Formats: sequence, structure tokens, C-alpha cells
Amino acid sequence: DRIITTDEIYTEKEYQKNLRPKYFDEYIGQEKLKEKMNIFIQAAKNREESIDHILLYGPPGLGKTTLAGVIANEMEVNLKITSGPVLEKAGDLAAILTSLEENDILFIDEIHRLNTSVEEILYPAMEDREIDIVIGKGPSARSIRIELPDFTLIGATTRAGLLSAPLRDRFGVVHRMDYYSIEELEKIIKRGARILNIDILDDGANEIALRSRGTPRIANRLLKRVRDYAEIKGDGYINKETTQKALELLGVDKEGLDELDREILNAIVKNYNGGPVGIETLSLLLGEDRRTLEEVYEPYLVKIGFIKRTARGRMITEKAYKHLEKE
Ligand code: ADP
Repeated sequence: DRIITTDEIYTEKEYQKNLRPKYFDEYIGQEKLKEKMNIFIQAAKNREESIDHILLYGPPGLGKTTLAGVIANEMEVNLKITSGPVLEKAGDLAAILTSLEENDILFIDEIHRLNTSVEEILYPAMEDREIDIVIGKGPSARSIRIELPDFTLIGATTRAGLLSAPLRDRFGVVHRMDYYSIEELEKIIKRGARILNIDILDDGANEIALRSRGTPRIANRLLKRVRDYAEIKGDGYINKETTQKALELLGVDKEGLDELDREILNAIVKNYNGGPVGIETLSLLLGEDRRTLEEVYEPYLVKIGFIKRTARGRMITEKAYKHLEKE
């Protein structure tokens, strides 16, 4: 039951349904992006057209799926959600594309993990709003062309560099999502507390924000756990002290690091004398999926200056050593 994971829509569905902002006025932070999107949306609405295809990239939990939902709500169109690994065959994608209505939004998460055969039908779909489907096999096989409604593709990926160039080039808007500031996280936490119906003091919101790794998903998740603690062990409201106690119990330290973060750091210290070490080796040593390490854990450790990426591998910094000693 980890705090830091990539998947959540499925495990915390009920809870997330409530906390997920539906319109821009509830979507906190990302001011430039919101301003840009609002203009696109207004212009598209005036012309009664769909908006340009959008590529969002950045670590998980920063609000990519939520943003797709907000755009769909603001546009007053439907949102269909799928992901790269789920679309196994070209037919899977074709089925979704042909079910879209005018100006609908299709969100494809982990779009860098599309099969080549699936990716290839996405090109004409994005560019000309049409797809060619092959029916039958062998000599009797023939291809039919299907016209698609005007639609918007919103693709999400952890790193833009993982996308093939032809796919990346077909997006009109490419936006990098960044970690949230402490103030923004505090707002998200206070909003969450209101929805979850639990009182929270400023110092409580601040303490959760400090440990949320700049990530709204983690902020909401920690809030939920701290709420449980406050209700059972505390006085029924959240302050700095309850937060500290609750998060200590969960193994989340002052920098927001969890067990696995510390395992990663300790493994590099103990086995490789601080590094450098390759990500593949580290993944084998820890028995952890390489992608989880690379796309979820490492970016934050790099951001806070605990790990340095060098040509020869990952290295521990002085700052990380100090933190490990303290903890
Ligand atoms: P991603 O698709 O980037 O992995 P999500 O869109 O699923 O991330 O966001 C994770 C959760 O964080 C959402 O369910 C939502 O509750 C919260 N969240 C994300 N971005 C924001 C935001 N800008 N304002 C408020 N809450 C947010």
C-alpha cells in the first residue's frame, strides 16, 4: 500500500471522483497553461470546432488526466479515456475513434507505449480525421476508409523524449507539466479537506504540502491518511502535530521520501559507494520495475538535489548523505 504510485484511478476511484476538479476555477496552479487553454477553448467554441491536439508531459500525478476532463467540461463535449498499453491492436483504437462524437476529446495516457501498428492509424486520424481499416485476410482483403468526426487528442506521457518524432510532430500544443509549489499544494489540500469534511489548520496544510513531492495526487493521498489518523488518534482536526505523527507512521519523512526512496539512496551508498550506478543495475538490485524507478522515483530525487544524473550513471549527493544520517 504505497503512497507513491503511478496508478490510482482504479484503486481510489470513489475518493478521487470527489477530489478531481471539474472546471478551471477549481484547477489549482498551472496558471500559464490555464490561460492558454482558456483562449483555445473560447476560440474553438466560437468557431464550433474542436481544439488542437495537445501533448502533456511530466511526472505522474500532476493533473494531466484531470486537465483533459476540465477541458472536456469547459468545451461541453465527451471525454474518452484510454492508455497506450491498453490499446493492443489497431482495431482497439479504431473502435474508440469511430465511437467519438463531434469535437469530443480522446485522452490517451502513457501514449509513448503505443504499439507501432496502433500508432500508425493514429497519424491519419490526427491529421486528416480519417482511418483506413483492412477487412479480411489474404487475396480478398480490402481496405476501407472511414471518416472520423472532428476530435481532439490529448496525449500524456512521462517524458516527451519517449515519443516517436512523427507522433510528437502531430500535436499542435506541447506542454510540460511541472511540480507544484508549496502554496499551490496547500490550496489543493485545503480544498480536499473541505470536500472530505475535515477541519485543517494552516500549519497542518503546510506540513502535508511539504511532504507531497510537489504532486497533487500525493497531497490528496496524504491528506486522506492524515484525516484517518486525526479522527482515530487525534482530536478530529488536522494540525502540524497530527500530520507529523501520522506521516511518521506511514514512513513518509520530512522531504516526502518513502521507504523505497530511502532504499534507493541506501543501495547506492552501500553497494556502489555513492555511485555512479546504472538504472538497470539498480532495478535488479532492488527488485523494482525500472520504469517505476525512472519515471516516478528518480525525477523527484533529482529535483530536490539528492541524485545527480551523470553520463556514467546515478550518483548520490552530499545533501542526500546528510538527509540519510538525520533520518
Ligand atoms: P496525472 O494524469 O498527471 O497522473 P491526475 O490528473 O490523475 O494526474 O491527478 C491526480 C489527482 O490530483 C487528481 O485526482 C486530482 O484530485 C488532483 N489534482 C491534480 N491536479 C490538480 C490541480 N491542478 N488542482 C487540484 N487538484 C489536482
